[in-house]
Amino acid sequence: MSEDCIFCKIVAGEIPSDQLYQDELVTAFRDISPQAPVHLLLVPNRHFNDFGEMGDEQGELMGRIAQVAGQLAAQEGVASDGWRFVTNIGAHGGQEVLHTHFHLLGGRPLGPLLAR
Ligand code: AMP
Repeated sequence: MSEDCIFCKIVAGEIPSDQLYQDELVTAFRDISPQAPVHLLLVPNRHFNDFGEMGDEQGELMGRIAQVAGQLAAQEGVASDGWRFVTNIGAHGGQEVLHTHFHLLGGRPLGPLLAR
């Protein structure tokens, strides 16, 4: 756990979230400021500042994240129409919270990946 990390505190249950899933590796909850009808965040329980910090020792964790993402997409009703799964890294990537997280977005056509 990293001091003063908001997502570490959500994982630990120290601050509230609209949690949808938790196991020993991964926690998923609704984004507090949704950008789409379905906007979930999937986070590793262990603190990494960003995705680029996670080496090949995190294979089991990444496999679990893929499995949980698919499961939640189905549960949220977006699996058949499609969804987006994205992680932002650093300043140019638009990362605001320094704890690796994956946005699961869907429920409407999401348009191009980047604003033109
Ligand atoms: P990023 O810009 O990729 O770092 O995304 C951070 C995301 O975290 C944003 O979409 C925020 O709305 C979301 N967020 C920040 N604080 C909370 C919180 N307490 N609970 C749920 N989502 C949050």
